[in-house]
Amino acid sequence: MFKKVPGTKDILPDEAGHWQAIEEAARNLFSLYNYRQIRTPIIEEASLFNRTLGNTTEIVQKQMFLIHNQNDVYALRPEGTASIARSYLENNMDKTNPFTKLYYIGPMFRLERPQKGRLRQFHHIGCEVIGSQEAILDVEVISLAAELLKSFAITEFKIKINSLGCPNDKQALGLSLKEALHKEKQRLCPDCKVRIENNILRILDCKNEGCQKIVKALAIKNTHLCPDCLNHFKEVEKGLGSLGIAFEVEPFLVRGLDYYNRTVFEFTHSNLGSQDAIGAGGRYNNLIKELGGPNIGGIGFAFGIERLILASMINAEKPLNRLVYLITLGETAKAAGVKILNQLRSSGIPSDMDYLNRSLKAAMRAANDAGARYVLILGEDELKKDAISLKDMSNGTQREINIQELTRELKC
Ligand SMILES: [Zn+2]
Ligand SMILES: [Zn+2]
Repeated sequence: MFKKVPGTKDILPDEAGHWQAIEEAARNLFSLYNYRQIRTPIIEEASLFNRTLGNTTEIVQKQMFLIHNQNDVYALRPEGTASIARSYLENNMDKTNPFTKLYYIGPMFRLERPQKGRLRQFHHIGCEVIGSQEAILDVEVISLAAELLKSFAITEFKIKINSLGCPNDKQALGLSLKEALHKEKQRLCPDCKVRIENNILRILDCKNEGCQKIVKALAIKNTHLCPDCLNHFKEVEKGLGSLGIAFEVEPFLVRGLDYYNRTVFEFTHSNLGSQDAIGAGGRYNNLIKELGGPNIGGIGFAFGIERLILASMINAEKPLNRLVYLITLGETAKAAGVKILNQLRSSGIPSDMDYLNRSLKAAMRAANDAGARYVLILGEDELKKDAISLKDMSNGTQREINIQELTRELKC
């Protein structure tokens, strides 16, 4: 028998209700903030990600799903931001609608090691706002992320923020780290020994305990920020404060991707154990320019839907069950039943019938298992009288009614 690909997951009907509830809450909230949905393809040219996420990042080096097609190399998208930046430019939004607020919901792909419980296909809900460097926009985006979590009934979350500064500041931070970490190099984990050469900021958020100790001892503050960046960060802090949003400044928060600069942030939740991030985001003021567009800012975030579901306490809301279940006895009744079912559905009444020619008793059990509110029983005798039996499953009462009356009866 075929099995699903390791690191993928079937979302079965019992669970799908939870997904729908989260997606609907997200759509409603994004609309409230005037964000519009964008749906980009799940495949892109692989070089889009090399260029934007950075060649030395773990995602590009180890986690891309590549598809070789003649002379082209495509990748299944590992995240949403690069695709949206590509689409923004390709569709001339920089000219027609330079300040654009977008959101997206969809699958992402990374070649993770499934034995660690990581998914190779996972799902993001996220947004991107392109066209402004204003600190109040950072405040809106972070507060929107917090409101989203609340709308999913997730309350016990923490917000960590930091500023990486502009590319110059990032470079200065990298240099001072390199100097400070030089004599510690032998004590770093194997990954960080490589990072010290090609992606030094990532050492700051290494999960290895030894590395964390070394980094904590460095006592990094935001001293690498130039006056403009420092001012921008202060405005973000002030703006969040004015909205009553609690946050912690976390100087070790860097986010791994090359395109981030200035504000970065992360949402964590205690339900999730050591890998406690539910979502994260940040500014990418050079991304659009890097892809050949104008020099305008951008900011966004993404939440992992699987992680939201783990953190959320809401149960999928059971739909108010109004299902009508039809049982027919005999061939003539079956043919008439198909028509009745069609009429009920045309009138917006959710309905189904027994397709397995079960005995009345077995079919009643099936109706009960399906959670039917009403059961209709149509036999040859009833049909002759133009009648049908209607059983109310909530109180067990049964009566015969005229078929013509049926829709009206069930509507009220
Ligand atoms: Zn700066
Ligand atoms: Zn390390």
